[in-house]
Amino acid sequence: MNESKQSHVMTTYNRAALRFERGEGAWLITDDGDRYLDFGSGVAVNVLGHAHPKLVATLQAQAEKLWHVSNLYTIPEQEALADALCAHSFAERVFFCNSGAEAAEGMIKVMRKYHAVNGHPEKVTLISFAGAFHGRTLAALAAAGNQAYLEGFGPAPAGFVQCSAFDIGKLEALIDDTTAGVLIEPVQGEGGVRDTGTAFLRDLRKLCDKHDILLGFDEVQCGIGRTGKLFAHEWAEVTPDVMAIAKGIGGGFPLGAFLTSEKLGAAMQPGTHGSTYGGNPLATAVGAAVLETVSQPAFLEHVQDVSGFFRQQLAQVIDENSDIFTELRGLGLLIGLKCTPLNSDVVAALRHHHVLSVGAGENTLRLLPPLNVTREEIAVAIAALQAACVDLRAAKKEA
Ligand SMILES: *Cc1c(COP(=O)(O)O)cnc(C)c1O
Repeated sequence: MNESKQSHVMTTYNRAALRFERGEGAWLITDDGDRYLDFGSGVAVNVLGHAHPKLVATLQAQAEKLWHVSNLYTIPEQEALADALCAHSFAERVFFCNSGAEAAEGMIKVMRKYHAVNGHPEKVTLISFAGAFHGRTLAALAAAGNQAYLEGFGPAPAGFVQCSAFDIGKLEALIDDTTAGVLIEPVQGEGGVRDTGTAFLRDLRKLCDKHDILLGFDEVQCGIGRTGKLFAHEWAEVTPDVMAIAKGIGGGFPLGAFLTSEKLGAAMQPGTHGSTYGGNPLATAVGAAVLETVSQPAFLEHVQDVSGFFRQQLAQVIDENSDIFTELRGLGLLIGLKCTPLNSDVVAALRHHHVLSVGAGENTLRLLPPLNVTREEIAVAIAALQAACVDLRAAKKEA
């Protein structure tokens, strides 16, 4: 499994030596034939698992017709996905791109542009929150304000401030004449699976309206059914002015978008923004098939049902292993377990038992199963978690 040859891939990731060849639903199979239960889902991407028949058929059918034409032409698949996204959300306009960072960047641009075309070019500042993650472009990094990720990359774009807590008083104190709006993940993913909470999101909406500033939700990770609603903000029954999505919407095909109300969308006229690949026929055909499946009420009910079951089981794991896990976090199938050992050691221990997971901030373990996961597969993961706890305890005694 381990290759000793020098890799030419840039060393921006600490990679496990696993080499997967195939996927089947929630399972990944290595080139040696070993099976792993994929509870990382390529970081919240494979919402329908691997090689889902409907997505495979959609991709194959589109591949035989047309891959790419550019946005110089009308793309029927793109129109259809935009229609479906708007039918299922607050939105009236959609811009397609290829990743979460681009979606977040577009969200920032449209929030500023709206004020500029409405006579307030001075309103440029975006307020975000400690622990946020919006992607790896310079503006997205500046928005998140994580100094470690900005280090060595020169001056960060200006016009971003961070609020230290999900606290309306602290947030209001940061608002001034230059404020364009607020950026927030309704449930923070990378930052440690932190749910901002219904009450806070409602207060946030009211505060933005009071100050006539815009509210942008980054649902790149928590959207597309992950929390048991199509979009996480639906739990709070509030709507944003703009929302970024990516990850789950492509089900594994690179696809992102930012969605706006009509008043924001109208600020973006021909020439103001663009993307060569964004929303191409292949990506949007797959995206429409994902959305059609995930938006079914019965599908979202399944997510709520299995996430309730999983969380109940996880609470028991924490009870029995309080030396390893201290807290259950998140919403739906966006699950965090706060760890006492290093979270990377917990990820490795779970991997040893053939279950894949992902680390997150605040020393948290992230469990992100495909949304069509079964109770039986969840039971496999629970058994692996129990076994990993035994191993971690034994390793600690030895140390
Ligand atoms: C992953 C993520 C991004 C960045 O997405 P990329 O596709 O990696 O650019 C942005 N925002 C949130 C909330 C994310 O989880």
